[in-house]
Amino acid sequence: MGLGAVIFDLDDTLIEEEAVARASVRSAGSLIPGVDPDRAEDFILATARAIWRAGPYHRLAVALGIASWEGLWASFEGCHPSLDGLKAWAPSYRRQAWQAATGELGRPDPELALAMAAAYEAAQRVGHRLLDGAAEAVRSTAAAGYRLGLLTNGPADIQRLKLDQSGLGSYFDVVVISGEAGTGKPSPEAFSLVLDALGVLPHEAVMVGDSWERDVRGATASGIGAVWIAAGRPLPDRKCPVSVIPSIGALAPELDRSARRRTRPSGTGTSLGQG
Ligand SMILES: [Mg+2]
Repeated sequence: MGLGAVIFDLDDTLIEEEAVARASVRSAGSLIPGVDPDRAEDFILATARAIWRAGPYHRLAVALGIASWEGLWASFEGCHPSLDGLKAWAPSYRRQAWQAATGELGRPDPELALAMAAAYEAAQRVGHRLLDGAAEAVRSTAAAGYRLGLLTNGPADIQRLKLDQSGLGSYFDVVVISGEAGTGKPSPEAFSLVLDALGVLPHEAVMVGDSWERDVRGATASGIGAVWIAAGRPLPDRKCPVSVIPSIGALAPELDRSARRRTRPSGTGTSLGQG
């Protein structure tokens, strides 16, 4: 059988994520009078990261791909029971992070810390625009007859919010979120969950994502083909069986090429789907 399913990553594959978080931090930092915005942004991110990493749930957060800046606004509602401790600790983490940020910037101020936390969350709740070509890529993949999966790392509440805001949720036959499942990319269990729910074998699926380690390495280690969104970055490993596209807008032609390779009688097609 040929390729039957296409599994998408969400953050920085379909929607803009890291740059949005930076901009939201910057807008929170702008509430501190007289502080350079670049300095405020870098300092807040570094302070939050240090507290996140020193906290009791860092190992879990790494396994589930939950970043310190996500911990600054996730409610962790709807998450797997293995995240109950993280959910209970998160408010204290946020308080520590924002208060430390105001203190280190020369103005220890709990009220300012609360205002910054609110400004950050408000910006994050509306900021995640679709990347250019993402909607077309999802629609054309569905129209071509593939089953669609979404496999994303992050807390249930914010990944669901971003997916809802994208307007693309209805195109996905299966959605697996690490915070809901209690397992995340690149763990083989996460890939098994999405394959089983889609009803396809590894060689009948391809993973599309921007993360070399979590999306590409994770997929290929499970026998799933991979399409890496390079976004201007050099290929980390030329021997890895991966298709490379510059941006999500180039996905449809890549899937077409792959389908043609598969139907050629003497086809020696490489990489996509590995089948
Ligand atoms: Mg990503």
